[in-house]
Amino acid sequence: MSGPSAVRVAVLYPELLGTYGDGGNAAVLRARGQARGLDVEVVEVSGGDALPRCDVYLLGGGEDGPQRHVARVLAEGERMARAVDAGSAVLAVCAGMQILGSAFRDVDGSVPGLSLLPCRTVEPLPAQRRAVGEVVVEADPRLGLPRLVGFENHGGRTALDDGAVPLGRVLSGTGNGVGDAAVDGVVAGRVVGTYLHGPVLALNPALADRLLEWATGADADGLPAGDERLVALDEAAAHARALRLEMAGVAARG
Ligand code: GLN
Repeated sequence: MSGPSAVRVAVLYPELLGTYGDGGNAAVLRARGQARGLDVEVVEVSGGDALPRCDVYLLGGGEDGPQRHVARVLAEGERMARAVDAGSAVLAVCAGMQILGSAFRDVDGSVPGLSLLPCRTVEPLPAQRRAVGEVVVEADPRLGLPRLVGFENHGGRTALDDGAVPLGRVLSGTGNGVGDAAVDGVVAGRVVGTYLHGPVLALNPALADRLLEWATGADADGLPAGDERLVALDEAAAHARALRLEMAGVAARG
């Protein structure tokens, strides 16, 4: 693990799990971290590479075929599980979240997942009913995060295990798509799954900062203050968030 002011971020298989710009999540962590004086290194992990030891792992969305492939590769040697046990943080978007559950289904059948998140992805929606569009999520109160905004495009529907903590309640959009109480995502320790693209960290700086807090061990003391670059990033995010909340007809706060 890196020292408190150095953060290593791994982007896992961006050539396979890179739909809807999820690779931008790494750019956001780097920009916000650097604006706070942190030394952020981004490592791209591609097919065949060993999984490096990092403070944050990022998984993005992907089509069914690449998703199956990554699930197989990541399960080898349980290195991902060991990194999580050692305290690394993970952000897994859409296909990434599905891979980290206990299993996921696609049109060709069921595939075992890594069981790092307490969820499983069940029978997909019929193609004509894919969940596509803007999403607004009221973060679970235990997480202490503001409303989350993003974009979803998935056929998979994800059921949470009993007692699992969702990322939040869906105010607009579909999210996990299972059960009457509409929720999105799932959180277990420092592993966060969500259906939100955007990239989600560009639209939700509080979630990006939470990952940086976990990565630096700053949970209690908070992150170092940022310079004018952070102000500019926050302003851009606030503008994009306001547009999305307006499109969804949802207020910024409850
Ligand atoms: N293939 C998965 C699904 O459709 C994930 C899609 C995605 O990552 N955008 O549910």
